[in-house]
Amino acid sequence: MGAFDEYAGTARCPLCGDIHRLSGQTKIFLPEFGELHARYFVPGTPQPVGYPPSEMLAAPTWDDNWWRVRAQPEPGCLAVAVDRDELFACSCGLPLAPVLRFAIDDQSRTVTLLEIELLDALASQVAARVDLADAALGVPWKGDYTVFAHDLALLAALSPTERALRLQQALVERFEGPERWHFAAGMKLAWTELSGPIQCEACGTVRERVSDLPLTHPFDNTSVLGEGWRGGRLRTGVRITAPMGWRAADENRGYFLRLRPSVPASTLTLCGGRESWGCGCGAGWASVLARFNVDDDGFALAWLHRRVVRTLADLDDVDLIYSPACILMLSAPRLDGRPVERAEVLRQLCRGWNLAE
Ligand SMILES: [Zn+2]
Ligand SMILES: [Zn+2]
Repeated sequence: MGAFDEYAGTARCPLCGDIHRLSGQTKIFLPEFGELHARYFVPGTPQPVGYPPSEMLAAPTWDDNWWRVRAQPEPGCLAVAVDRDELFACSCGLPLAPVLRFAIDDQSRTVTLLEIELLDALASQVAARVDLADAALGVPWKGDYTVFAHDLALLAALSPTERALRLQQALVERFEGPERWHFAAGMKLAWTELSGPIQCEACGTVRERVSDLPLTHPFDNTSVLGEGWRGGRLRTGVRITAPMGWRAADENRGYFLRLRPSVPASTLTLCGGRESWGCGCGAGWASVLARFNVDDDGFALAWLHRRVVRTLADLDDVDLIYSPACILMLSAPRLDGRPVERAEVLRQLCRGWNLAE
């Protein structure tokens, strides 16, 4: 089994056109420890594998861990399903199966990542696009390697139609029940899902989406919205009754940095971190902006935007911004014991976000 190879690239969601920045590990190529491992696959750059890569398609299984899905590969090409835990859903709601498409060259013993294709994980055509899938997408681990090897051999011996069904089944199971897959594992209640129409500020497109924002600190449980909100799903227009007097104090909240001493009386605007996706219009990596209507007894999510933050001025209407790096810097003990001034914090924010001041 290979180790430590990584891939990176961008790909579009087939439903909404959002651009996703994708990266992960693949263990599909055999390592030759001492030389050929820790390869970094980006589109267009050949990487040595040290053996004729077409060997990977010569048998029903590969490296005792991968199984052939479609019967007929495309000439000169190897298409690999990513690991089960690298499957994800777009904020438009479409569960996605990334497929790494490599050009293979037996003569030079190299493979070249051509592209990462994003496919609708629940549509039946995924199997027709994949040559090799990891055993975790087809063989349940029962705690015993002999049983595993036996199950993998049985799977590999099935007809192409049955193998396609098996892959489809594994993908359906991975995405079964939105409450199970929408939250990343381990983040659960500290996170808030904001749902509703969201507008791209660059192109004006409005689309129904679900966006995650870590409104509650994962460790100390401080909620950005005060004691009345502990996490969960929040939709635009829904009013939550909660004490909101905390807004009077000029202090940071959880991992959110306060950008101004006083905030407006009737609104509160939060900006999330820079995401690994951007609008299909090509504006760049976006952040989620959430505007709340507030009074002393509660709040309601007024609107959601996607904004590409490039300069400090882009944050003029933002009250609190997600910035764990700044919060950690502020909580670190200082040699001179002096409190950190806001200007210094903002400079740090600009450095961390690579913003023009
Ligand atoms: Zn999408
Ligand atoms: Zn846009």
